[in-house]
Amino acid sequence: MPDVTTCSCKTQQTNDQETVSGCSGAACSSCHDAATAPLSIEVKKPLNKIGETIVVMSGKGGVGKSTIAVNIAISLQMAGFRVGILDSDIHGPSIPTMLGVPTGSIMENDGCFLPIEAHGLKVISIGYFLENTDDAVIWRGPVKSGVITQFINDVVWGELDYLVVDSPPGTGDEPLTVCQSIDGKVSAVIVTTPQKVADVDVRKSISFCRDLPIPILGIIENMSGFVCPHCGEVTDLFGVGGGKSLAEEFSLPFLGAVPIDPAIVVSGDTGKPFVDRYRDSISAQVLNKILSSLIPT
Ligand code: ADP
Repeated sequence: MPDVTTCSCKTQQTNDQETVSGCSGAACSSCHDAATAPLSIEVKKPLNKIGETIVVMSGKGGVGKSTIAVNIAISLQMAGFRVGILDSDIHGPSIPTMLGVPTGSIMENDGCFLPIEAHGLKVISIGYFLENTDDAVIWRGPVKSGVITQFINDVVWGELDYLVVDSPPGTGDEPLTVCQSIDGKVSAVIVTTPQKVADVDVRKSISFCRDLPIPILGIIENMSGFVCPHCGEVTDLFGVGGGKSLAEEFSLPFLGAVPIDPAIVVSGDTGKPFVDRYRDSISAQVLNKILSSLIPT
């Protein structure tokens, strides 16, 4: 069996080499040092064919990256594409909750993992490997990279038109592993909020993509203005225009600005993707317009 498993010492574990299950894993955080046994069984790799991977990145946490990732995936699925979503946020996986499947047991077949199905999407997240949703994952970079590589190579994605990847904030091991492990076309969407502090960090995400290099499909400014549901007055709680001016500065497409909408919070918390559940709302129409620019015509 591949190496994302619950170790017999009861510690969630994995490793960046292939090992058999149990405490022989090289990177179990508890049994770590004793365990270096290489894989003694041959693991079959699934035959996956992924058309395009869209990595959703941000410099900061809490800017709405997971929200945008879920809604990109749902928009593409609603447009008739075969879509998977890979939650590469190992320490704070939100995708299971946002898709309304907060827990689930990953099944195995021939040593490969079968993704969870939700809203017509194939989904994989470390959240589905935790015994308890409150468990903290305390892993160092190489271990996280090993898990993400497995999420890409050892999951039965089958044939997908798109794989949407939700990254943790920043430019660390997780987005790097994704971008370096995907065999095929990879591009990025960068999510930011209007504030200066977000602007500073999003520049790093742009540099990251340019250094690798992977093309940037564009910048989305999220939480851009609050429309009062009672009087319709717009209040720019966090300022406005930061995403657009960054896009202009770096000659990148500005995909659009998504307002603050309490229904987006409800949709994320209740696992009912916004562009589907609230499709008639003004914010959903704004978001749909933004996302439609990512869908080839
Ligand atoms: P990140 O992935 O960047 O950490 P999330 O997508 O988890 O951010 O969003 C953080 C919180 O903000 C969630 O509760 C989400 O529902 C909420 N949120 C995201 N975008 C908006 C928005 N445009 N309006 C209101 N709430 C939003």
